[in-house]
Amino acid sequence: MLNCLRYDNKNVLCYTIFGDDMKIKSFTLGHYRSNCYIVYKNEHAIVIDPGYESDEVIQFINNNNLIIDAIYLTHGHVDHVGGVKKIKALYNAKVYAPKKDEIWLIDSIYNHVGYPIPVDQYVHEGFRFNLDDIEFLVIETPGHSEGGTVLYAKDASICFSGDTLFFETIGRTDLPFSNFSSIKESIEKLYEMLPDETILYPGHGTKTTIEHEKNYNMFIKYKKQT
Ligand SMILES: [Zn+2]
Repeated sequence: MLNCLRYDNKNVLCYTIFGDDMKIKSFTLGHYRSNCYIVYKNEHAIVIDPGYESDEVIQFINNNNLIIDAIYLTHGHVDHVGGVKKIKALYNAKVYAPKKDEIWLIDSIYNHVGYPIPVDQYVHEGFRFNLDDIEFLVIETPGHSEGGTVLYAKDASICFSGDTLFFETIGRTDLPFSNFSSIKESIEKLYEMLPDETILYPGHGTKTTIEHEKNYNMFIKYKKQT
């Protein structure tokens, strides 16, 4: 299983899983400093939350000869979806997004990208897909947005937590369709569901772990179930 975690000479985080390396490259993009991640193994890749069109991302894909199997959107907000159309067009990637955030993707009142985001498959709680032999599971975490999700890879002990759970803070809930009691429930669900050592890669800011947030997140405190 997970037996090694290190950075390679290009500052890409490497995990050795099932004998081969899985790598994670992160980019911080745009005005909102949104995190975009490329997860790849054996030249197959998924791109998570490409918020803005970025030459840096495209160059990285090309330099590493990556085949983009999928683009995954943790939620529908503009700063996570603005680069989807270009990457999809260049690499013919399949786009997955949460159904409950469709309004942010296609309705021009909420979508400020200027065109509807092309989605191939809308997903719900429990949807699974693979990158090579690594399985990713969609967990619904409403609150910051109605359709907010995290993407969890159990065998790698990693979770892309979108704008739900950040390093020592949480996603804002003052936006249309946001709800504080929902995000609280969602984070409590993650605290219960994910092992403490799970590394969280959030939509903004630095990475963290479930254990760290249980101990230091002042917004949603961990209450041990009895
Ligand atoms: Zn957001």
